[in-house]
Amino acid sequence: MGKKVSRRIDCNLCGSKEQTFKYTVKKGGKPFKAVQCSCGMLFVNPQPSMEFISTFYDEDYFSGKKKHNAPGQMDLEKHRDNFMPNINKCIAMMHKRKKKGKYLDVGCATGHYVELFQELGWKSQGIDISEYSTEYGRTERGLDIITGDVVTAGLPKGRYDLITLLNVIEHVPDPTAMVKELERILHKNGTLAISTPNAGYMVAKMSKENWWGWNDEGHIFLFSLATLEKLLDKAGLELYAIGSPYSYGNSVGAVWKNAPNIKIKGIRLVEYTLITKLSPAMFKVSRPLADLLTPGTISFARKRT
Ligand SMILES: [Zn+2]
Repeated sequence: MGKKVSRRIDCNLCGSKEQTFKYTVKKGGKPFKAVQCSCGMLFVNPQPSMEFISTFYDEDYFSGKKKHNAPGQMDLEKHRDNFMPNINKCIAMMHKRKKKGKYLDVGCATGHYVELFQELGWKSQGIDISEYSTEYGRTERGLDIITGDVVTAGLPKGRYDLITLLNVIEHVPDPTAMVKELERILHKNGTLAISTPNAGYMVAKMSKENWWGWNDEGHIFLFSLATLEKLLDKAGLELYAIGSPYSYGNSVGAVWKNAPNIKIKGIRLVEYTLITKLSPAMFKVSRPLADLLTPGTISFARKRT
């Protein structure tokens, strides 16, 4: 102990020093200020230090034992029924415009998607900073997984046809640096798919600190569709489509912290239809409206030509 637990930052998206205080959120049992920049970026400032944050990502984090966290990566298996089909559908959007190629999952944890894409016939690779989860992925699942930070790993320029950043960007200390590096290693016809809770969702705005997007202690940047598009644009990428994955986090019962997950089939069907069909359709008509109506997005970006 004795290490500094926080550091003040300028807005990672626009560089501004001025932000408006919104509300307080808990990180590692300590109160942190959630602030919003005039550019729209919602984040924690001062930020928990990396030493402090790293204490959140232990074995319990990946096995899903942590209370009020998103299910751990190994726990994903249990959520296949409501989580996987839609992620697969979203990913399938890209199969239409792309042949199988080289795939990279950034923040791959134990390699769930690395395995999935390998089974689909892609040359599949993962990278994650967690020694525990990457070691598990290599030894227990026999996958091609790098332990390290993608920003400094020096992966080959233009290598990957598909890069996924699934529920990762809200955790990283410098989203701008990460997306810029992903743009560099993306093939000229490649796709970058980013999934993240949507801070632009009207329920997120209404629920404030009780929004499920804050449940995970490691969440330090929460993007709306609008701020995510600004970030992509800054990195030389163009947002061209969204999917809206239906998952544990999007269900009505999980919108508010600690609310019981609703299991009534009819409600699930209505939710499923609204979330998976309405949001992507709305995106083509009005992005601000899609932002308001989408609980969580998977956004597809390509290099600007
Ligand atoms: Zn800003």
